[in-house]
Amino acid sequence: MDDYALVLNAGSSSLKFCVYRRPLVESWRLEARGQIEGIGTSPRLSVKDADGRAFGNARMQEEIRNGRDALDFLAIWLRSRYGGARVLGVGHRVVHGGAQFTGPTVVTREVLAELYDLVPLAPLHQPHNLAAIEAVFERLPDVPQVACFDTSFHRTLAEVAQVIPLPRDLCRTELQRYGFHGLSYEYIASVLPQEAPEIAGGRVIVAHLGSGSSLCALNEGKSVDNSFGFTALDGLCMGTRPGAIDPGVLLYLFQNLNLSPKDVETILYKESGLLGISGISNDMRVLLAHDEPQARLAVDYFVYRAAKEIGALAAVLGGVEALVFTAGIGENSPEIRRRICEASRWLGVELDTEANNSKGPRISGPHSKVSAWVIPTNEELMIARHTGALLGLNGERGYRTSKENDHGYKGSTGDRPSEDASRIDRIQAAAVAEADQRS
Ligand code: ADP
Repeated sequence: MDDYALVLNAGSSSLKFCVYRRPLVESWRLEARGQIEGIGTSPRLSVKDADGRAFGNARMQEEIRNGRDALDFLAIWLRSRYGGARVLGVGHRVVHGGAQFTGPTVVTREVLAELYDLVPLAPLHQPHNLAAIEAVFERLPDVPQVACFDTSFHRTLAEVAQVIPLPRDLCRTELQRYGFHGLSYEYIASVLPQEAPEIAGGRVIVAHLGSGSSLCALNEGKSVDNSFGFTALDGLCMGTRPGAIDPGVLLYLFQNLNLSPKDVETILYKESGLLGISGISNDMRVLLAHDEPQARLAVDYFVYRAAKEIGALAAVLGGVEALVFTAGIGENSPEIRRRICEASRWLGVELDTEANNSKGPRISGPHSKVSAWVIPTNEELMIARHTGALLGLNGERGYRTSKENDHGYKGSTGDRPSEDASRIDRIQAAAVAEADQRS
């Protein structure tokens, strides 16, 4: 029987997943990569095979109201496709590992409890990441799970870059700058030697521009600084998060507008950034297509903040050899790349318009002092690599049997808890009917 491993990246409005397969005597290969998007609004499943060919697309009924429904649906989809297969491990993206989790970790109930303590530091992501772990515990209790953290890659930051300059007593606990999007930056650093060997060993600023946006300063492939800090609110302007703001604004919201902590949390995580400035959308595509002054201001501010922070990280690195764009906006918007590169001209970035419009990978001209690149990120592959390494799945067939990693490996796609059965069946029936209709 073939072996399988899963990767789950569970967010607030999407559930991304990858299925890896290892046929007898062969090595792991990507079998399927997909996502359930629009959870809570208009959910849709899309799945592609390893060559990028679509299969299993379906618009789903509104029963997919939350992350839990999406996980239930995914379990059904997996069972219908790979029923009875042996699952050797599940890797998860977990946004915050705090000070205690400095690398990928096998999740036990105790580890899970510690990760729940970090929810207030990442309320937009952490609860969804952990719900996915709980769902796997319920369905596949014997299958080992690995949490891969967005914070781990930045554990190489110098002490000075981790400081939060508040009174020492307050900062004895977890108050420090962590940095996020680490799995994305780690992936980019890992592929630079093949994709752009001339810059891999140098000083590189990577711009991960998506729903969440940040920059990372890399030196010789190691993280030196990141525009995020204690939480994923700091730094660049994002879809619904403001990025860096004067802390006095928060005092004003509490003291003058009498807002509660919960109100302020909602404003900061869900109502600010591109959405807040424009009052129209958090989606860069929508804003670029709009002519209203507020839409233009939102895009202008996004570019302004990115360019300003590139200057700051160039100073931290003491100079820079390359700029790399990645993630939804970074990979797909020539317009935003053009504008950020133009604002960074003073650093020596000379854009090649044609290369930029055709996605590079190198998008700077031959005489550009600082080269610019587009390199697609792959956080799920990074999670798969970590999971395989930690569970000993990558080498010879057969597994490491050290105590900490010996979880029996008896997993299968499993039976669902009976109380969920009828609800799941309804969701499945609706989605399968929809898919059949389309095929
Ligand atoms: P996340 O993984 O953080 O949810 P992504 O990296 O997938 O986010 O980025 C999603 C964002 O990318 C969308 O909100 C959208 O604004 C932006 N995006 C995707 N395609 C384009 C495009 N062609 N032009 C501009 N922005 C785009």
